[in-house]
Amino acid sequence: MIKTEKHLRLKTGTGRTVRVVREHYLRDDVSCNSRLCMADCTNEGPGLLPKDVTHYVVPDCQVTRDYLEILEFPEIRGVLFTGTAVHSMQHQGGRRAYNRLRTLLRDPRQECAVFANEFQQYAYCPREHGETLEKWQSRSTYKAAEWYYNHLAGQIPVVVLSEDPQIQEEYGPMTPGVFVVNMGEYLNNFWPDLQPAQDIYESLVAGLQEKGKSTGSKEYRDYLPVEVVEAGIKSGRYLRGNFQVNKHRAQQEAFVRMASSSGGKDVELHTDVIVVGMALRNRAVHGDTVAVELLPRSEWRGRSTAITENTEGVSSETEEESNSVMPTGKVVAVMQRNWRDYVCSFAEDEETQGQKKNPGKVLVIPYDYRIPKIRISTRQADQLKDHRIVVRLDSWEADSQYPNGHFVRSLGRSGDLETETAALLVENSISVAPFSEGQVKELPTNTEESPWVMQPEEVARRRDLRHTHLIFSIDPVGCEDVDDTLSIRKLPNGHLELGVHIADVTYFVSPNSLTDLEAKARATTVYLADRRYDMLPSILSADLCSLLGGVDRYAMSVLWELDNNYEVLDVWYGRTIIKSAYKMFYEAAQAVHDRRPEEELIQSIPELHGLDTDTARNRLEQIRWAVDSLMDIADHLRAGRLREGGLELEGVEVQVQLGDSKEIEKLVPKQPLAVHETVAECMIFANHWVAKRIAEAFPNYALLRHHPLPRQEHFESLVECAKAQGFSVDTSSNKALAESLDKCVNKDDPVVNKLLRTLATQAMSNAQYFSTGSLPRDQYFHYGLALDLYTHFTSPIRRYADVIVHRLLLAAIGVEDERSAGVVKNQELEELSQHINNRNRAAQHAQRASTELFQTLYFKDKDPEDECCMADAVIFSLRANGVLLFVPKYGVKGPLYLKDKDGLVVHVEKDGAVSYTSGTLNRKQFEVVAQSTKGSTSFRLFQHLTVRMSLQKSRAHPQTLTFTLVAAKPYKPDLERVKGESSAPARTDVVKEVKSSSADTSASQSSDTTAAMGSEFPELLCEYGQSRSCDTLYGLMEGFREMSLAEA
Ligand SMILES: [Zn+2]
Repeated sequence: MIKTEKHLRLKTGTGRTVRVVREHYLRDDVSCNSRLCMADCTNEGPGLLPKDVTHYVVPDCQVTRDYLEILEFPEIRGVLFTGTAVHSMQHQGGRRAYNRLRTLLRDPRQECAVFANEFQQYAYCPREHGETLEKWQSRSTYKAAEWYYNHLAGQIPVVVLSEDPQIQEEYGPMTPGVFVVNMGEYLNNFWPDLQPAQDIYESLVAGLQEKGKSTGSKEYRDYLPVEVVEAGIKSGRYLRGNFQVNKHRAQQEAFVRMASSSGGKDVELHTDVIVVGMALRNRAVHGDTVAVELLPRSEWRGRSTAITENTEGVSSETEEESNSVMPTGKVVAVMQRNWRDYVCSFAEDEETQGQKKNPGKVLVIPYDYRIPKIRISTRQADQLKDHRIVVRLDSWEADSQYPNGHFVRSLGRSGDLETETAALLVENSISVAPFSEGQVKELPTNTEESPWVMQPEEVARRRDLRHTHLIFSIDPVGCEDVDDTLSIRKLPNGHLELGVHIADVTYFVSPNSLTDLEAKARATTVYLADRRYDMLPSILSADLCSLLGGVDRYAMSVLWELDNNYEVLDVWYGRTIIKSAYKMFYEAAQAVHDRRPEEELIQSIPELHGLDTDTARNRLEQIRWAVDSLMDIADHLRAGRLREGGLELEGVEVQVQLGDSKEIEKLVPKQPLAVHETVAECMIFANHWVAKRIAEAFPNYALLRHHPLPRQEHFESLVECAKAQGFSVDTSSNKALAESLDKCVNKDDPVVNKLLRTLATQAMSNAQYFSTGSLPRDQYFHYGLALDLYTHFTSPIRRYADVIVHRLLLAAIGVEDERSAGVVKNQELEELSQHINNRNRAAQHAQRASTELFQTLYFKDKDPEDECCMADAVIFSLRANGVLLFVPKYGVKGPLYLKDKDGLVVHVEKDGAVSYTSGTLNRKQFEVVAQSTKGSTSFRLFQHLTVRMSLQKSRAHPQTLTFTLVAAKPYKPDLERVKGESSAPARTDVVKEVKSSSADTSASQSSDTTAAMGSEFPELLCEYGQSRSCDTLYGLMEGFREMSLAEA
């Protein structure tokens, strides 16, 4: 080992530069991290360079900093970062860029590696006297590349990337096999077809050229230095929180939401801080973590109570503020940028926006109202005029009115179903790339030539339930991925034994395997209105992990011994082998319970076909006993929970969304069956008991799910609304809330109860995953389910949280094998929980956005006079300039303006005719009164109106539905419908109609081929396709339950 000295210049938080001298040890055994290594390097991932590439790439420091985004392309494999480049990123590239590099290096899917060149005796070169940092870095990079090439015995060419022409000239010819080119040449020569990378390159180059061109005039104030802010936060002078822009008043109003643990001295601030206007916002972007300083109390403001039309930058004139002022502040520093990819469009009149005086510079408008316009450099503005594009933010300097960003890629023509769907995925940061080749290779196969079989050693380790337990699944019609099965039997001592058996996903998915990493990144299966994106490849989700009937499957089981009062005497957890005897549908199970005629029942259970009458009758008797017993147990469990205050809430929207889902629509029962609740209750029971077990085993790092108490102020609109109908809602506890909601029934208007439950749902907080070490014990409870402990165990095929929970359970019960080694400590688990929460939220937003997209596409070409545009709407909230409406037929909500753009106020004649005239609006407790020269009209809470729905077209933003008042009376045809059946059927039509009328062929392809391929198609799909089969209804119901608790 050789000792040398290394002189470092470090930048402190204040921006001061200090010189330090570090002792530096050189070794000759630094790992090369290449799979081609023929020496004895101890090469251990995560990042190893692959064998099967044509060359390795070694970016120098500047290229690493400026073009990391291109090196992140999954196509570009075999990128070697020198230690020198990593250090330069850390010290010169900024925290965000450095973190991205670290993420890249930690991800084995990317197949890039670090070579610690500065510790390698022969690769290291000390900085020479008078040598600039840049020159030294370039020389080090080249030297490292050269060493590397020789170390691998010239097996593979090495390409050094450097933008410095001098370096290219000087080093290029030095060693054959080691090339020096710049990024542009590299892309042209090696990746001529990788257009997205080319596009980003151009955009980045243009952006870099602009860098440093300062106009000199400051648009904004400089941020305070980091240590001043940190000291200020400690002392309570500044507050730290998440910056949230009000979507409806994006230019005017933003809030800073305090972190629950702001750290330092606890500032007891229960409300948000409002930030008014763009100047005080000081370049903070929605989602950033910021520090704010409160303004003097005399300058505090209230939040706006008017509904506003968000038409590109123009706000309506109604500026009514709430009387209660709230803490008001200004942003003094951005602590952390949380920028993502943004979908943007070019403005219609982009030529006038200075393209003349500033060629190539264009302002683009983000899809999300909350994000400011972004200035990008692109020469493609003309070609992409009608497209939606993806843009990334780079910086926002104090002298710039707008942030700078760069073009990433186009999503296609705006308005097409595929473009719009891609847009909503990008907006929610959901990545849906096909599963990688490496990942598919990792998985077992199950084909005719090489069928999957159980391993004898694995069989020996498991409890075999195949001959002792009658196991069956109850799922929606058409379901192919069966997460869960049930069993019930009488024990010799007369007690009952209830069993829940879940797909053993963790047997197939080892921690940190590629499949595991991909599933972790996705965190959940994403359901959109017309499609879904699976978390696991179909070989697992639809086949080997699916607990199909009549085949041997590995499972994770929970078995409870129950006494005659259904109290739990004992519980067993463990790995099992099962063979489900019946794959029943809900309708069949319910029919068995309802004692439908025997022939009908035998007909509905395929496993009973072809048996002689006596055998069939006996089997049927067995099934009936099992179903009846399960229902009885579930009723008991459920009653227990409801006694404790478990909530049954209405999730109108969500129900609607599920109804929209193509795979799902046929599965949602026309009428809820009792057996749905039975299955759901058994799953809740299993989740609860698994939660108990893992929380006990890992008090500091078990993954649980809690549902916090709702904030009382969120109940305001519920309480007000109920009052308008003469009901009083008690929100003091979940039990009181549940009971009082049950009493809010208006016999003449079923919408009332529905709407109140929806409002209650919206007042709820989201249920969240957490690590037991991160919350005090008294916050573990699940408010909505009224359980002290809860987790997710029963759907590992489509939720990553369940995968973690399976591993925890295995570790808790002492099944020590490499597969349970995925248990992680508190901090890592808490971060993982946050990631999963975040991905779930994104999946829900995307699902909602997808439904809204279909709704808007449905109305796109409709004649406003068309009958389907007319609807009955109910007033559920009052505003200064209008009311908020709920339309039961379509499950949508939106504003109705009672004052139009010219300031005229609505007036309704005796005969119901609507006109606009000058007047005033007066908001009272239960009504808004429009007072005009012609008389007065009142709009009461829960009043039914007839409205016409139409599409408000927007170029850059999501299109929205608007309501126009047709008559101040109920719309008869809709009311009849409500009384007759559920409103769902009308809604599934929306998807069908949009799909079939969509001009975009690729979109409707899947459904068309399904029909065209006829009856064998499901099998074909199973074998070759991405799983498209349904989810279990329990999953739906639980999803519904969970989502109904979730409202952004
Ligand atoms: Zn080596």
